[in-house]
Amino acid sequence: MRPENAPDHAGRFGEFGGRFVPEALMRALDELERAWEKARADASFGHELDALLDTVVGRPTPLYEAKRFSERAGARVLLKREDLAHTGAHKINNTLGQVLLAARMGKKRVIAETGAGQHGVATATAAAYFGLPCVVYMGATDVGRQHLNVVRMELLGAQVVPVEAGSATLKDAINEALRDWVANVEDTHYVIGSVVGPHPYPEIVAALQTVIGNEARAQCHELTGGLPDEVVACVGGGSNAAGLFRGFYRDESVALVGVEAAGEGLNGRHGASITKGTPGVLHGARSLVLQDDEGLIAHAHSISAGLDYPGVGPEHAWLAATGRARYESATDEEALEAFRILGETEGILPALEPAHALAYVLRGKTEGTVLVGLSGRGDKDVATVASALDG
Ligand SMILES: *Cc1c(COP(=O)(O)O)cnc(C)c1O
Repeated sequence: MRPENAPDHAGRFGEFGGRFVPEALMRALDELERAWEKARADASFGHELDALLDTVVGRPTPLYEAKRFSERAGARVLLKREDLAHTGAHKINNTLGQVLLAARMGKKRVIAETGAGQHGVATATAAAYFGLPCVVYMGATDVGRQHLNVVRMELLGAQVVPVEAGSATLKDAINEALRDWVANVEDTHYVIGSVVGPHPYPEIVAALQTVIGNEARAQCHELTGGLPDEVVACVGGGSNAAGLFRGFYRDESVALVGVEAAGEGLNGRHGASITKGTPGVLHGARSLVLQDDEGLIAHAHSISAGLDYPGVGPEHAWLAATGRARYESATDEEALEAFRILGETEGILPALEPAHALAYVLRGKTEGTVLVGLSGRGDKDVATVASALDG
């Protein structure tokens, strides 16, 4: 394995990744790849990004020793507090970096697609900072379900376009965003929200999120004098996990554990693409996908909006195949229980997505020091939790 775990020139992570898109998008992806390589090699891009992460996002986020939660888990649990980043989750690390790149490329406009709205809000936030117009495609069904995030995006100056086609959810919004990009590729950058999509997106997003792992590794050293025994993160598309894991790839003693959504159980509706998926192409890349025998994409389910995606980033499919990381899953019910326990023991309401990682830790199978990626805060999930506990 290459030490950085970077993909090869064609953006392949082993047999996964690559670029499965219509010819019309090849040029845009080539241009993006070149701009990204150039920015990475340019110290001024790094300095500008660091300054933004510092002043806009509020980095570094703390590494927090969860003492009372540790007693429940039977291990020393440290939380990497991405919930304290601006807008309340790790997504802003990526959107700010991509919009900075777009501005350097001379793009005049950014677009994004969003399911539950969190990536849309993070993109709208970054676009507002740079003064770029922003269009967010969202399935009409999701617009109805996620009214508050629609209002947030609009207050941030973005235009939210409801997509009526198909099932009027995320995959239809992705198609619409791709159509817009093909038509307006000269002046538009498409901001993808996780380590998914065609090359070079999985690499760009993972690199922009690696700040999480790099900070966490240094902070763990400072706090404990050594490395954690295990690093745990929830996996939807896989961006917060990839960012955290990348800080520890070279540390062979550190076990990496990704936790997927088992939803109603692995034999019912769920979002566990690594645990239960098979190789296939989704959203322009080859990875592990929830699909039937004919390749029809399954409907993913999780109580947390950020984990109900029927695929996963190719980097994780590869980490699973090589054995460098291990993937577990937690059900809706287990995540709800972990949500409650972190609130009661630490005074922190986590987002339901990282509550899956906490649920795994609460099984008590881990020993020593466990570093958990707390990818976001739970304010957005309070209504969901309340109705689930009532029901
Ligand atoms: C979107 C989201 C996720 C899932 O996305 P990844 O790309 O897998 O990180 C996880 N946690 C929170 C808080 C999110 O908002």
